[in-house]
Amino acid sequence: MTIPLQTGVMYGPLESRRFGKSLGVNLLPSDQKVCSFDCLYCQYGRTRLGKPVRFPEAAEVEEEASRFFSSAGDRREEIRWIMIAGNGEPTLHPEFPKIVRMLKSLRDRWFPQVPIGILSNSATCHWTDIHDSLSLLDGRFMKLDAGSPDVLGAVNQPLNKNIWPQMIGGLYRLRHIVLQSLFVRGDTDNTSEKIVEDWIHTVAYIRPESVQLYTIDRPPAEGSVQSVERTRLEAIAARLREKTQIPSFVF
Ligand code: SF4
Repeated sequence: MTIPLQTGVMYGPLESRRFGKSLGVNLLPSDQKVCSFDCLYCQYGRTRLGKPVRFPEAAEVEEEASRFFSSAGDRREEIRWIMIAGNGEPTLHPEFPKIVRMLKSLRDRWFPQVPIGILSNSATCHWTDIHDSLSLLDGRFMKLDAGSPDVLGAVNQPLNKNIWPQMIGGLYRLRHIVLQSLFVRGDTDNTSEKIVEDWIHTVAYIRPESVQLYTIDRPPAEGSVQSVERTRLEAIAARLREKTQIPSFVF
């Protein structure tokens, strides 16, 4: 089952277990998912190549965000996070560094107490300009579902098949991050003993501040991806804590 794409730059407020009430910022087009991964479980469906991509321009993002923040500010909404996410991988926007600085300044004006964060698939965090822009944010929630290139290939299907060493190096250099790890079963399964051991080893190397473990809420449109029972997620989190002392939470 797929969910509809966001139709504009701003959306929400959304209520989520991980972030509470948040406002979303979508830097991707409204007519297609744009991502450097093609995760088996993606709720926006498959990553399609070949269609021309029209990112919203920075000026358009600024105009929409100003209007949205001003109206949410007037309503005195209790917002916990402003989250850059949307229809794919936000760091692929060609003006991402400029937009991060602009969003921070709008946040300072309308919601000075509210942190601004990002949900990223981690595949671009080794690029210097993306690393520097991510470092300006208050929260970096970075995807890591695998502990080896093979599992990354099976679960996340990156368009760049050789991304593993750069991605792990980028995550290692990016400080104060939260890793988000999604576990699935089915034809592809990243919950087996060996795969979890590799993942723990990789998490220990990256040294995040914490790890969020979760599974799919509903089956995706294609394939045979299944959710993982909570007891298994709790057991993986407990093993990670025992071996690394890194705080780990199941959602
Ligand atoms: S990284 Fe996110 S948007 Fe991209 S394919 Fe995976 S789940 Fe979908």
